[in-house]
Amino acid sequence: MPNKGKVYIMGVGPGDYKLLTLKAVESIKKADVIVYDRLVNTKILSFAKKDAELVYVGKMPDYHIVPQDAINKILLEKASEGKTVARVKGGDPFVFGRGGEEAEYLYEHGIEFEIIPGISSAIAVPAYAGIPVTHRDYCSSLHIITGHERPDKEESSLDFAALAKLDGTLIFLMGIKNLSNIAEGLIKHGKSGATPAAVIERGTTHNQRSVVGTLADIAAVASAAGISSPAVTVIGEVVHLKSKLEWVKPGKLAGKSVIITRAREQASKLVERIEELSGEAIEFPVIKIAEPEDYSLFDHALEQVEHYQWLVFTSVNGVESFFKRMRLKKTDIRRLAGIKLCAVGEATAEKLYDMGFNVDFVPESFTTENLLKGLLERVSPKEKVLLARADIANPILSKGLSSNQIEFDEITVYRTLIESTDRNGIINRFIVGSIDFITFTSSSTVSNFVTILGKENLNEIEKAKVVCIGPVTAKTAEELGVKVDAIADAYTIEGLVDKLVELAEESPWN
Ligand code: SAH
Repeated sequence: MPNKGKVYIMGVGPGDYKLLTLKAVESIKKADVIVYDRLVNTKILSFAKKDAELVYVGKMPDYHIVPQDAINKILLEKASEGKTVARVKGGDPFVFGRGGEEAEYLYEHGIEFEIIPGISSAIAVPAYAGIPVTHRDYCSSLHIITGHERPDKEESSLDFAALAKLDGTLIFLMGIKNLSNIAEGLIKHGKSGATPAAVIERGTTHNQRSVVGTLADIAAVASAAGISSPAVTVIGEVVHLKSKLEWVKPGKLAGKSVIITRAREQASKLVERIEELSGEAIEFPVIKIAEPEDYSLFDHALEQVEHYQWLVFTSVNGVESFFKRMRLKKTDIRRLAGIKLCAVGEATAEKLYDMGFNVDFVPESFTTENLLKGLLERVSPKEKVLLARADIANPILSKGLSSNQIEFDEITVYRTLIESTDRNGIINRFIVGSIDFITFTSSSTVSNFVTILGKENLNEIEKAKVVCIGPVTAKTAEELGVKVDAIADAYTIEGLVDKLVELAEESPWN
């Protein structure tokens, strides 16, 4: 029998994945199995080991819920196989999270466990709306109450008489469907209808919204605004502070979800910009960067690098791979002295600049035709060009150089492979219509996306807008049957973000 494994019962906060604790991150990193709920931000899965088994036990698309005893059995079974299990819950595992029940079950079956507290929505969601749950001037207690009622119950299980007497802040979780009963019950038992109240939907996430009213009208106000679960209701004088303390400033992409198809290594700038603008950046990498299969041409070029007068880089990755190999082969960087550099795109030029090089030529707008034209104007007949490129480079450049009798060598400095990304999660999000934009930053991102999603699923993406970094990418998309809604004006990541903002302004979120 294998050694028994261990279960980490953890909370990962209410939405904003940056509210994760270091301890939760550490445990997710070492877990063999991750069992996660519906309200968990799936971004936390990016910390998981590549081969970790992911088990979703939240609501399924057909609204079916995995019963608690089935979840318990999964934990027991995986731990009994000797695996390290991360049992991941939204907020805190012991605040209406059934973490206690799961821990009891593990205790009864002799499975070791650890509890990792999380930041509970009960406190953090009001905080993100500028409501401190306690304040010396207003209250001296806080009460966290479940608003969820079993539909088959005739009598309310909430003791409104007792709750109405409390002076402290009342916080209801899971109560949005029942909000009018809650408010009526409290008023009936003596709580003033004028007590300030607020409801915050999807707090701490990119589409947090809130409404404010009084106990007497909050149910109507929330319903008029179409507030739905998950939401936290706060009742008490502290709600007054919201007008002063509301600090989350929605950026220009607030409420928008954007799919990023770039390789994980390349995605960070786009992710950061989208998150800075309050958008949700969903990483769905369809490409992965790999080393060349064969280094012989590359190494040969390095050995005689001073024979070239021009060195052309077409991507940041190309620059990184080139210099990595130079270091490995102990090729002294001074051997590049006097060689002119061409970088396709600002990001590539910036990368070279950071390494201490000035770049001699950056085509103003990137298309291969433009690059070719610029090179032909600059490269003199006796000069030789080295093209450091990916394995799937566009042949127009090499053909154009040949037909103009420019001597050149072309080397593959990295390969782009299709990523083994699971498509189901993303297809579900398309089905429920919660994706606003899909971004493509190269032709290969489009073709791999179509391959991974499957042509038969392409109709699912119709509700989302497709935005391409440039015309070449857009052409590939159209050829593959993907309708393009917009092309960035500047063919850069910043240009792409500007286009997203422009489109977001056309259909603002409310
Ligand atoms: N263990 C969780 C609570 C689980 S009960 C915690 O500590 O936060 C689920 C309820 O939590 C939801 O019905 C809702 O009331 C609240 N909730 C969770 N995440 C939320 C969010 N991002 N915004 C608003 N309410 C949230």
